[in-house]
Amino acid sequence: MPEAGTASNPAMKSHSTAKLRRSGFLGRMCQLFRMRNAMPCVGLVVLGGCLTFIVAPDEGPTLETRLDSALNPAFATVVIDPGHGGIDEGARGNGLQEKDLTLDLALRVEKLLGAFNFPTILTRRDDTYVPLSERAAIANKIDNAIFLSIHFNHSHDSAATGVETFYATAKVPPESAWTWIGFFNKPEPASTDVGEDLAGYIQTSLVTRTDAANRGIKARELYVVRHTRCPAVLVEGGFINNPLDARLIANTEYRDRLAKAIAEGVMTYQKTRPRPAKPPEKLAQTAH
Ligand SMILES: [Zn+2]
Repeated sequence: MPEAGTASNPAMKSHSTAKLRRSGFLGRMCQLFRMRNAMPCVGLVVLGGCLTFIVAPDEGPTLETRLDSALNPAFATVVIDPGHGGIDEGARGNGLQEKDLTLDLALRVEKLLGAFNFPTILTRRDDTYVPLSERAAIANKIDNAIFLSIHFNHSHDSAATGVETFYATAKVPPESAWTWIGFFNKPEPASTDVGEDLAGYIQTSLVTRTDAANRGIKARELYVVRHTRCPAVLVEGGFINNPLDARLIANTEYRDRLAKAIAEGVMTYQKTRPRPAKPPEKLAQTAH
């Protein structure tokens, strides 16, 4: 179908001619200017482009969204939970102990988040045993927190590889929230944000930064993510019993990458929480 207002339409033709005539002087001047001042013109175009770049609005969150984030932050504190510790060694294999690696990675995440002024609390800072209920209780004492539990994986299949992130589909109200009055009333409503989006952002960053196999985000009723009132995830940073994963995990530079990915996921979540992006597609459940 031809475009409307082609040269076959007389009215349009005369209008176009007048327009051309009006622009004739300007056109000639521009042509002259282009010929004599080609280089300054290029300079002006480049300068114009730069100014456009500087003043053009970014494609990130709108001012309204940013203001909302500043006045009503998605969370105030990041509770970092290094899995296992003390008598609970966690997984072992290829000369590695899970409890040591989780503490090392948690401290790296804490350092990175601290550099961006995120207040953090660790459920343990050394090789001590902290019961799961206590880990959840630490998070439940803090208002407006998120909870990151850090682990490394183990499987009966030594070929199992990659990274995965868990969240719970439903929260169990903490025991401290139960009172006789509460017993006869409706229990405290569980948080509507269980951490699925947070899991998605962290998992995406993990895969991007490490090239590890993407085992996806998975809903599983693990104790610490289920018993924490706030959005909570459990990250599995690789398989200790897989020789290749173990070689990577043992490398400090690789653990730095894991830490950056986790911190990046947290920051993306903070920025986008008012309008959460769609998390990556969930993969089949194959975790151990
Ligand atoms: Zn573990």
